Amino acid sequence: GNGLMAGKRGLIMGVANNRSIAWGIAKALTDQGAELALTYQGEAFRKRVEPLAAELGAYIAGDCDVTVEESIDAVFENLEKKWGKIDFLVHAIAFSDKEELDGRYVDTTRGNFQRTMDISIYSFTAVAKRAEKLMTDGGSLLTLTYYGAEKVMPHYNVMGVAKAGLEASVRYLAVDLGGKGIRVNAVSAGPIKTLAASGIGDFRYILKWNEYNAPLKKTVSIDEVGNSALYLLSDLSKGVTGEIHHVDAGYHVVGMKAVDAPDI
Ligand code: NAD
Repeated sequence: GNGLMAGKRGLIMGVANNRSIAWGIAKALTDQGAELALTYQGEAFRKRVEPLAAELGAYIAGDCDVTVEESIDAVFENLEKKWGKIDFLVHAIAFSDKEELDGRYVDTTRGNFQRTMDISIYSFTAVAKRAEKLMTDGGSLLTLTYYGAEKVMPHYNVMGVAKAGLEASVRYLAVDLGGKGIRVNAVSAGPIKTLAASGIGDFRYILKWNEYNAPLKKTVSIDEVGNSALYLLSDLSKGVTGEIHHVDAGYHVVGMKAVDAPDI
């Protein structure tokens, strides 16, 4: 086939519905000739993900809950049988108890802290370890992060602490896997109204704030994130690893509320 991703095959984890960032990435990759495998989390999501996979001609690599080791192993065994090797992997997975994405970070419970770190940080390392074995010709791993890792954002709380850990793990994984030609990067996306984002308090306000104050005076779409992800997953970025690439309409460079921003 034609396109930047022609001849490349990879796994996308984190499609929940057609508003998911992972779905924006899946579409951009397929448009450029990639062949995809998708996972879904639990039976409830199967009905959503199956028709989306069909739309892209993607293989369903199974039900995967990243807190269960055997569940991750089963996905990679499926891929090994089907393709023998993979060229890229997208990790678009995070979780925290909704109750704690409001109020104060200091009130985070030990149980939710551990669960948040397990699903939102460790799972990327867990899949990187398995992907390494299948990336026999090198490859590209990508995860999704948010500016709340760098600066305190309202209500992001324990998820901000998790994203800081995720970004640090991108750098450690980049060093561990670099010798095999495997690159590891993250896209730091601006706020987008997805299922996961609906758990964050005052999300509409956060979207408006970004729209008024980002240099591009807008929020980003899943298609824009998808196209930037395409660059990091393709050979165009062969010289890039360990990078946190902001796709946020420039918001992260701004130090102060825009003088002409309306009150919200
Ligand atoms: P989403 O709800 O569409 O995707 C989140 C995914 O995580 C879902 O597919 C869900 O099934 C999966 N997931 C959660 N727990 C899991 C588990 N135990 N096992 C397997 N999968 C699990 O929302 P999204 O906004 O597209 O989120 C994708 C990624 O993008 C997340 O890492 C999120 O933190 C990040 N991100 C989102 C925004 C935003 O504003 N939406 C901004 C920056 C970064």
